[in-house]
Amino acid sequence: MSGAAFIYSPFAAQYSMGESHPLRPVRVQLTYELLEAYGAFKLPGSQLVKPEPASEADILTFHDPAYVEAVKKISRGEYVPDAHRYNIAEGGDNPPYEFMYEVSSLAAGAGLKGAKMLLDGEVDTAFNVIGGYHHAARNHASGFCVFNDLVIALLWLLKQGKRPLYIDIDCHHGDGVQHAFETTGHLMTISLHESGHYLFPGTGMVEEFGKGPGMAWAVNVPLHPHTDDETYLWAFREVVPPLVKAVKPDVLVTQLGCDTHYLDPLTHLQLTTAGYTQVIRELKALSPGKWLAFGGGGYEISVVARAWALAYGVMLDQDWPDQIPTSFSDKYGLKQLRDHKQPFIDRTDKTAAWEQARKAVDQVKRLIFPPHRLKS
Ligand SMILES: [Zn+2]
Repeated sequence: MSGAAFIYSPFAAQYSMGESHPLRPVRVQLTYELLEAYGAFKLPGSQLVKPEPASEADILTFHDPAYVEAVKKISRGEYVPDAHRYNIAEGGDNPPYEFMYEVSSLAAGAGLKGAKMLLDGEVDTAFNVIGGYHHAARNHASGFCVFNDLVIALLWLLKQGKRPLYIDIDCHHGDGVQHAFETTGHLMTISLHESGHYLFPGTGMVEEFGKGPGMAWAVNVPLHPHTDDETYLWAFREVVPPLVKAVKPDVLVTQLGCDTHYLDPLTHLQLTTAGYTQVIRELKALSPGKWLAFGGGGYEISVVARAWALAYGVMLDQDWPDQIPTSFSDKYGLKQLRDHKQPFIDRTDKTAAWEQARKAVDQVKRLIFPPHRLKS
């Protein structure tokens, strides 16, 4: 059955990680409201789906029991003296906050709901817009991420006998997902990101390409901070389609962080909504008929709602009018869906970005293509 599910709960927008924290949950509410204004949930084949939280047993398929217990206590406001062991600290990237457990298990439940809908044949695409917490590790929080909803969904898909492949287009390296699978050979992870030389979490070099049975199953394309649409798309096309065709997954799982945008305050890549939307179209074309998409990073509120509304449009084969409906624009002041400005990148920076992309692509082709019988 064709069609797409948008998995969303207002609860995911109603918590706070603190006034000055860059992750503002309201961004998913804006995405929902913008799509609602376009009538996206009334179109044939489109479903608005409310998720249930993942069970503790689901969360424990990946996470360490002591860590899960600590998150529960912190979420209830209880004092956990060794919270720092789990990388949770007041004023840091991962502060303690009310509903931490509920919000994180809801994101994981949303991913599992999408995965089940795909396997039950209810839709061919499911978009867990409230998830995409790719940095979370088995026994600690990292980079605003508490439970790794992506790993939990991937493990569930593997348990059902599926062959998923993971692609991460967030501006940050998808380290948590890579580390969960890099020694197993159970699935391929591909991450395109701003190089760890310039950005958190500092990892994601091409040389991290998996170990033991996982050798050549972790793929990283680290990019220069000034990478624009053209260079990014070139690198994507050189690496991603050949590997997807070689590995032949039966489910495509993607993390669609939109913090690659040139206006994002935490990062430096220079993509526009045009480049981002084109990547989404090319991911769709690579889907084997089951596509589980997740949200992710995105810290400029005026960008996130537009980028993810465009992404859901691609999933529905809808090209939304550029003029944003007045019911939304009157409330939030955003008039146009797509960017009408380009970032300025001088020649030296453009050349540096191009050279870095070419170096990363060459390295991937040399180290990872041959074991998959692709020409280097
Ligand atoms: Zn990110």
